[in-house]
This record gives sequence, C-alpha cells and structure tokens, in this order.
Amino acid sequence: MTARPTYSIVAPVYNEAGNLRRFYAAVLEALDSTGESWELIFVDDGCSDGSHARMIELARQDERLRVISFARNFGHQIAVTAGIDYASGDAIILIDSDMQDPPAVIPRLIAKWKDGYDVVYAVRARRKGESRWKMISAKIFYRLIHRITDINIPVDTGDFRLMDARVARVLRQMREHRRFIRGMTSWVGYKQTGVEYVRERRIWGETKYPLGKMIAFALDAVTSFSFFPLQIMIYISLILALLSLLVGLVISGLRLAFGEEFFGGQATTIVLLLLLSSFQLFFLFIIGQYVARTYDESRDRPLYVVASTHGLDEAPAENQRGSGNVASRLAKDDPMTERRRKVAGDAGG
Ligand code: UDP
Ligand code: MG
Repeated sequence: MTARPTYSIVAPVYNEAGNLRRFYAAVLEALDSTGESWELIFVDDGCSDGSHARMIELARQDERLRVISFARNFGHQIAVTAGIDYASGDAIILIDSDMQDPPAVIPRLIAKWKDGYDVVYAVRARRKGESRWKMISAKIFYRLIHRITDINIPVDTGDFRLMDARVARVLRQMREHRRFIRGMTSWVGYKQTGVEYVRERRIWGETKYPLGKMIAFALDAVTSFSFFPLQIMIYISLILALLSLLVGLVISGLRLAFGEEFFGGQATTIVLLLLLSSFQLFFLFIIGQYVARTYDESRDRPLYVVASTHGLDEAPAENQRGSGNVASRLAKDDPMTERRRKVAGDAGG
C-alpha cells in the first residue's frame, strides 16, 4: 500500500456517469495546485448507469484513485460514511460528485485547516439552478434544525466540508444507522469554522433527493439531535387540560343561567373528538418515529455491504469497530470468492 496521503477526497456517486470525468479533472486541478499528496475515494452507491466502469477506467489511469462499490444503493449519508471509514489522509474532504460543490473551493478549505481549524464547512452563500421549492424548503429545513437541536449546526451548510483526521476518528466510532453527517461533525466539537461559496447547478443528470427522501432525511436529522418533538407534548397536554377546565366552567354557568338545553348539541362533541384524536395520532406518529429508530439501532446491522474495491487494501484496522459494523472484510479487488472462481473457471472449460 502506498504511504498515507495528506488529503483524502471522499465523493459519493449514484448514477453520475456524465459527471465523473469533469469532476476528476476539476479535483486534479484543485489538488495538484497544493503540491501535496492526495487520494480520491469514489464510493459507488449501487450505480446502474455505467458510472462504475467510468470510475474503474479513471482509477486505472491514476493510482491515487480508489473505488468502493456497494452491493446495492445504501444512500448518500451511508456512502459518505464508507468513504470516511476508508480514508487515510491527514485531512478528509467530503464533496458531491455532480460539480454542485466546486472542487476549486477545496484550496480555501485547506487554508483554514492550516490555520488550525479541525472542521471547515462550506457555507452556501448562493445557490444556482435549484427550483424555488427546493430553495424555500431547504431554507426552512436548515433554520428549523438549527433552532430545535441541542448542538450548533450552522445554517445553509451541506456535507461539503474538510475535517481533520482526529474528527474522522471520532466519527468512525459513531455507528448510528440514521445518519445526519453534518450534525454528527458539529457534535464532535474542536475548532470549527465556515467558508462561503456559491453552490453551482448540477452539470449533468438530475437530483437523487426527491421530496419524499428529503422529508425522511429531515426526520432523521431531527430525531438524531433533538427530543423537542417529544417534549412539546407536555405543553400541549397542559394547555388542553386548562382549556377543558375552562370550558367546563363556562358551560356549567351557561346552563345554570339559560337552562338545560344549552350546549346540548352533538356537533361540538364530534368536532372536538376528531380534533383530539388527530392530535393523539400525530403524537403517536412522533413517538413511533423514535421507537422505530431505537429498534433500528438495537438490531445493529452493518451500515453497508461492500461488493468490491479498487486501489484499496482492507480498511485500516483502526477504522473497524467491534460488532462487525463495517463490512469491509469482504473488500477485495475481485468480488468473487475462490470457490466461485473455480466453478466459473471449470464451467468455462
Ligand atoms: N448520492 C449517493 N447516493 C444516493 C443519492 C445521492 O451517493 O442514494 C450522491 C450523488 O451522486 C451526489 C451526492 O450524493 O454526488 C448528492 O446527491 P444529489 O446531487 O442528488 O443531491 P442534491 O445536490 O440535489 O441535494
Ligand atoms: Mg447535487
């Protein structure tokens, strides 16, 4: 294995065939200007569009490239996690492979790291080419998370960031299944700072984050870092209890003054019943979200399954935590086991 590089660039890839060459060229330009050593780790998150072949082709030409291929699509946050597990640089840079995070910003992240910061996140000063809806929902999302979580997650930052190896070491120990990487990096602490950049439009293909996935991601973010949704229930229940006392008194008064039939109708009862039931079901849903995640964590399945790697030995031993969480022992350049290879060879005559 080659010596440890100074920088590890981690890029998750899910069907980005048309972006990879330009992305690689841009990384090359940005990193070679530093004059230091680096590796580029592509995490192939179950690509089905020829991205895999493109990555291998690039990796054959440049031995600083590594490819980790998942057995299926595990999702963006998990792909980033695998990249961090395998990265061996002194600083690790997370970046999308669709050119929305311009590699040209990397030297500015590096400069801050050299000033002594452990995490340098890239703040989106402006976004180009996103729909109005995506802009508004993102704005609300980041502010909501910032407000209700217990840690300081900066607004308008995605996963585009640089982290020191000592931050990555802590992240590797955090094996939670519903991952909100930007929150997890904030949680670690040390010295963190931001650098502003303009988020570009995607140069090819379309977003892999449709509305449904964004909502699921937001739920993961909130439940990972806040118990606020559980805690507001107590306030709502107190308000409702007070209200019922008040209403009881008012109705009793009215009946004493105007006679028995006052408020005798069923409409009020039905409306109230429906309203309260919907409240209760809503909070059952919220509790359910936490319960399901607790189940998910206790089951403790591996975070991802690696089908093959290129340009890598096994993940460094220090990156593999107990309980078989990182399925990297499977990682060999060729995914076929000895036996299958033999069978295949025999069959081929
Ligand atoms: N991605 C991934 N797995 C997924 C979805 C996305 O590895 O299941 C990658 C994708 O290839 C890209 C990055 O994560 O490099 C960000 O995804 P995308 O550009 O679709 O999200 P957006 O920028 O629209 O929020
Ligand atoms: Mg994108």
